[in-house]
Amino acid sequence: MGAALVGWFEKNKRTMAWRDDPSPYHVWVSEIMLQQTRVETVHSYYARFMKAFPTLQSLADAGEEVLLKQWEGLGYYSRARNLQKAAKTVVSEYGGVVPDSFEKLVKLPGIGSYTAGAILSIAFHKPFPVADGNVLRVLSRVLGRTDDVRDEKTKERFEKELKAYLDRVALDPGEFNQGLMELGALVCIPNGRPKCTECPWNALCEAKRRGLEEALPVISPKAEKKVEEKTVLLLYEGEKLLVEKRSGRDVLNGLYGFPSAEGELSQNRLSEAVSGGTVKKLPDQRHVFTHKVWNMHCYEVKVENFGAVSGRVFGLLYGTEGTPASYRLVGKKELEEEIALPAAFRKWPLFGSET
Ligand code: SF4
Repeated sequence: MGAALVGWFEKNKRTMAWRDDPSPYHVWVSEIMLQQTRVETVHSYYARFMKAFPTLQSLADAGEEVLLKQWEGLGYYSRARNLQKAAKTVVSEYGGVVPDSFEKLVKLPGIGSYTAGAILSIAFHKPFPVADGNVLRVLSRVLGRTDDVRDEKTKERFEKELKAYLDRVALDPGEFNQGLMELGALVCIPNGRPKCTECPWNALCEAKRRGLEEALPVISPKAEKKVEEKTVLLLYEGEKLLVEKRSGRDVLNGLYGFPSAEGELSQNRLSEAVSGGTVKKLPDQRHVFTHKVWNMHCYEVKVENFGAVSGRVFGLLYGTEGTPASYRLVGKKELEEEIALPAAFRKWPLFGSET
């Protein structure tokens, strides 16, 4: 069964830069990028990231803002921060060599059983499973299982079974794991009918035999996302735009963004706060995070001297919390080259352009 899958994988695998040289560092970075992000998107980010940080040591040594700039647009910035924290630990505790032990890997920030399994099986050829969404779907169908794949216990059970299987078969665990994931991505697909006629497991698939290909896997509905209303300011002083480092307020803590307040502020209140400045309403925008949605009401504000109105503006936005941790007035070039601006804040044209 495993040999048929590996044979299929050899013939059908897609070209991916990290597959050319699957070193522990390459597999690690690619797997972290692939979490919550499509393969097509990861290609260009991976190439850019490896150019900037070709070695684990260079990643460990990088400044935080340089690192976040390389990650800009990929989202879930804690992934980048954890990657660097873990790289620093590998340098300080393991002499810069990625450990080949499951117990050591899962102690590193940002590495769970899935990433540890990918590094161990693909880079070190050790018999450890990977159980991502693709794998859980394929296995549920092949084995005809009706357990809820959103339940952590289902994942643990599959991991245990896969581990026992990999321990006993004479297959390259990395090839088998990648084959499973690739089969889920290309053939045993999540939306629409799986392409069973192209599947190497066609003859032994339980879901196919029982006509349950589209009924499996069983997935319990996701909890509804909480919707939050925000007011966002694109505040210009001449040719400079105000960006602030967000602190302790939300999912984008520690990243740069535009000044923003909870709820929807009226144009009148803003006009009072920036007395003499202009306030223009821009189109509302929406940003979807993993667990919440921001409905953003945006104003373009132009002032001559931000220092003269900053107290009133920040008071209006943040109340007693006062000013943000830090803020900067930046030009277009500075924003493009130095500031990692999360996707939630890249919804409006800036500096009067469409870019
Ligand atoms: S036969 Fe069809 S349902 Fe079964 S594993 Fe293959 S693609 Fe998926």
